[in-house]
Amino acid sequence: MTNDGQSEERRTALQVACDTAVSGCVFRMRTEEDDKDRLLEIAREHVKEQHGQEYSLEEIDDRHVTEIEVEAGTGE
Ligand SMILES: [Zn+2]
Repeated sequence: MTNDGQSEERRTALQVACDTAVSGCVFRMRTEEDDKDRLLEIAREHVKEQHGQEYSLEEIDDRHVTEIEVEAGTGE
């Protein structure tokens, strides 16, 4: 795909979804790439508090974080 001269900026964001780990849980969070550490920690806390399971940050990163493209200019 080429960019047809439009000046839309594309940024990568990170999304973590708990529902891949525990069926029925709808915890989902999205953040900017820069905030990855915080995202992992919040997800880890969630799993620990809500599901009583301990994951390492690496495991969460590996299994539950997906990169998504977002178009800048909308939101906030
Ligand atoms: Zn959950």
